[in-house]
Amino acid sequence: ELARQTQTLLARLGEPYELQHGTVMLSASAGISCFPEHADHAGDLLRLADAAMYHAKRQGRNGHVFFDRSMAQEADETLLVDTALRQAIPRHELRLLYQPVVDANNGHLGKVEALLRWKHPEYGAISPARFIPVAEECGLILPLGHWVLLTACRQVKAWLDQGIDMGEMAVNISAHQFRQPEFVQSVRGILAETGLPASRLELEITESTIMHGVDEAIATMKELRAMGLRLAIDDFGTGYSSLAYLRRFPLDRLKIDRAFLADIETDPDAAALLTSIVQLGRSLGLQLVAEGVENFAQAEFLRILECERVQGFHFYQPVSAEEVVGFGC
Ligand code: C2E
Ligand code: MG
Ligand code: MG
Repeated sequence: ELARQTQTLLARLGEPYELQHGTVMLSASAGISCFPEHADHAGDLLRLADAAMYHAKRQGRNGHVFFDRSMAQEADETLLVDTALRQAIPRHELRLLYQPVVDANNGHLGKVEALLRWKHPEYGAISPARFIPVAEECGLILPLGHWVLLTACRQVKAWLDQGIDMGEMAVNISAHQFRQPEFVQSVRGILAETGLPASRLELEITESTIMHGVDEAIATMKELRAMGLRLAIDDFGTGYSSLAYLRRFPLDRLKIDRAFLADIETDPDAAALLTSIVQLGRSLGLQLVAEGVENFAQAEFLRILECERVQGFHFYQPVSAEEVVGFGC
């Protein structure tokens, strides 16, 4: 009965709204907790319904999800990460590691990607795959993302001042960060503050970041490109992507997700799929980077495919700024 009523509610919310400037479509996600099975206080019930709602959102929105016990633990963990993350910047628990991206032909370092690391004094190392989504949910991604961009730009500038050429610095930008109206301005501010030439900076964004609000994304990307920055699509092939749109995005590079490297040596279908992705990128005039290259066979395959750049443990692990400099010469 609850499920049926919720669906009715979501359907009503999903009806188009006629506004002065055109039609607007909304969607909503619902999380449901039940009294007294799940909790017996209003505050707890709301908290659990909230956890269920996040699941509904992750499942693609416009749906409903009932709370279950496994979500409670996740909700508690999320709260812990949220609380601890708020202190991470002032307590200097964050740092950046740098992983080289190399030329597929000769293995020379082409540029580096900044990867965020968080070491909590009590919980130890926490993976970005775990805390970035939490930071996105609770809005902390903005100060965090700003810190990453500033630190990474300062680092390349410091290298340049010492006469060290590490190529470009690639920085991961999260969806929420990219969609901020002030994003372009904040990038411009960081470049001005650090004195880094824009041509030394590359931003990595995912497909879902730009597929959601295509026109706004294109406008933002054009502004960034006009400043002289490079733009890359990260984890290409894993998100929700419209190939028709891909052509319209002002992009420089495609980073092919490591999922497409699995089994290429043994499975002809996997090899064919990777080959097609490389051809697709090339026909769009984009430079291709393969991520997560873990062995010689994969590296060879990519070299023969003429994928320009490769990145992965087979070449280099992400390391500190001091260490990565040694790979540059
Ligand atoms: P990503 O941007 O696709 O980064 C590549 C990830 O793959 C990194 O994981 C890297 O350590 C790992 N990796 C590199 N080579 C290999 C390999 O050969 N094999 C395997 N199995 N893995 C490899 P990491 O550092 O844990 O980061 C995970 C994700 O978290 C990143 O994926 C990125 O989406 C996000 N992330 C990391 N740092 C930041 C950041 O500063 N800001 C934002 N918004 N997201 C970040
Ligand atoms: Mg990346
Ligand atoms: Mg990636």
